[in-house]
Amino acid sequence: MSHHASHIDLHSHSRVSDGSLRPAELAQAMFDAGVRMFALTDHDSTDGLKEAATQARALDIKFVNGVEISTRWERQTIHVVGLGVQTENAELLRGLKFIQQLRKDRAAGIARKLEREGVADALSRARKLAEGGQITRNHFAQLLVEDGRVKDKQKAFKQFLADGKRAYVKADWPAMQTAIHWIKSAQGLAVLAHPMRYGMTGSKRRRMIEAFADAGGDALEMGGGPNTAADTQVIAEDARRLGLMGSVGSDFHDPAQGWIKLGICPPLPADISPVWTHPRLSDSSAVIRS
Ligand code: AMP
Ligand code: MN
Ligand code: MN
Ligand code: MN
Repeated sequence: MSHHASHIDLHSHSRVSDGSLRPAELAQAMFDAGVRMFALTDHDSTDGLKEAATQARALDIKFVNGVEISTRWERQTIHVVGLGVQTENAELLRGLKFIQQLRKDRAAGIARKLEREGVADALSRARKLAEGGQITRNHFAQLLVEDGRVKDKQKAFKQFLADGKRAYVKADWPAMQTAIHWIKSAQGLAVLAHPMRYGMTGSKRRRMIEAFADAGGDALEMGGGPNTAADTQVIAEDARRLGLMGSVGSDFHDPAQGWIKLGICPPLPADISPVWTHPRLSDSSAVIRS
């Protein structure tokens, strides 16, 4: 079986977290962009998988159950994507519930800080934007843009929401190792999301990736989204050294975010084993579980 990498997108978001499309709309957008195998990986929730899987089946494209889990390694937030997870797994569900509560508590804290900055009704408005899905900093960024406090979301993060800024509230996410354990319990593969986006020095990043591999992590994202071709080469080095597979994904959130295109994922280096050919993901009976 061979897929061209640009037909594969294993990292994306819907309205179940901070994406702008409904899960079925996302499946359609993937199809329209030429993607033939994709994963929905909402932040800390599997609630959109059934709808996305149903639409993917109607379009005759492959769907992989996914989730992007917020974790902590040495005080830093690290995102771990679980692919091919069994959504009914009790351990995974309990873990995600725990994080969902952390998100609610953190949202209340962020809202208090924003209200002190003069943003009215921040919590109820953010809840409304999230429509019952996970409340993320992206929703608060949207409020700040709506209120004309900042020009765009980037500035909202830079001035208010990024680590250490005025409305930042730390969340005590579970350890990276714990989240990997949940993913494995649910028969999934653990993928380290966007390894170049944590603002780490090379040596710290390599230590983090070693900890990821030691905990049973399976693959590193090395293409798609904001990754450059040079990033791919850097991360491929780590994958070779530690015997990890490679994954690709756009980290798509919003069609208006024009610089991130669905399914525009560069090919993996030829000697890197693609995570999507792993039996757990390429066996469609396991993949189209919902
Ligand atoms: P959260 O998981 O609630 O802390 O929110 C993190 C999300 O906010 C990420 O998944 C991105 O979608 C978005 N985000 C983080 N940093 C930035 C930034 N500097 N500019 C725009 N969006 C960002
Ligand atoms: Mn996001
Ligand atoms: Mn992420
Ligand atoms: Mn993401």
